[in-house]
Amino acid sequence: MNNLSFYQKHKFKIWRNFSYIFFLLIFIFFPLFHVVKLDIAHGVSYLFGQEMPATNAFRWLILIIGGISILIIFTNLILGRVFCGWICPGGFFAQIQEFFRKKSLNPKTKKFSKIKYYLITGLVTTIFTFLIFNWITDLRAFFYITNPAFKPLWIAFAISFIIFYFEMFVADKWCRVYCPTGIYHKITPYFHFVKPVLVNKQECSDCKECIKACPMGLDPRKMAYINDFDRGIQACIECGECVDACVQSQIPKGKEPVLKFVKDIHNL
Ligand code: SF4
Ligand code: SF4
Repeated sequence: MNNLSFYQKHKFKIWRNFSYIFFLLIFIFFPLFHVVKLDIAHGVSYLFGQEMPATNAFRWLILIIGGISILIIFTNLILGRVFCGWICPGGFFAQIQEFFRKKSLNPKTKKFSKIKYYLITGLVTTIFTFLIFNWITDLRAFFYITNPAFKPLWIAFAISFIIFYFEMFVADKWCRVYCPTGIYHKITPYFHFVKPVLVNKQECSDCKECIKACPMGLDPRKMAYINDFDRGIQACIECGECVDACVQSQIPKGKEPVLKFVKDIHNL
């Protein structure tokens, strides 16, 4: 058992990335194949491939926003912030950015390559902004100067780019502090059917690997007992990174992992 496989070490990371990629593909292909899309450049909208006037888009826009809000309340009620940790494309991009942020830090010199990080952030932001605009316009309109939407689109793109650049630049901190959806999560009713909890205090080596791994800056050993928007269970996105970290820390020492997803903390 000491020789852990890659899957055993990164079980939650692997499943979470599968989930993120699945929802990212939906996010890309739904507007691309006109399952649902507004095309302001040509004054039309689409629903399940059927073209209709752009004004009709408001109906399904309200439906989509309403549907996502209900989905969030529903998932929050059952599992907590799984939308942030397993579904949200913004959360996935923030995770990618966090990876680049760590890669920009030279482990030997401890120097942070700012230029490298600025450029990578610019590239990731450009991709993300185009993916968002793919919902509201035919992207080809960005390259046809004769289209009346050309100028307004580029102005809207520049404003959005600045906001998204900030989102990408701060990476995980966006989900922790600034994201409006994350704030909505914290204030909607929640019930965590399962949550990461320290199940055996005596066997914990106090290595703090779970704390280092937590993208929300929590202490996963304590947060389930804390009722607080920033330090408590409300902030946990149920990602399982802390559980993976404990497996990686404890098993090579010949010990059992002590941080696990459990249902009822009162029985501990
Ligand atoms: S406490 Fe664990 S499950 Fe919750 S956000 Fe932190 S790492 Fe993820
Ligand atoms: S990773 Fe596991 S052993 Fe290390 S401090 Fe966290 S709970 Fe304790």
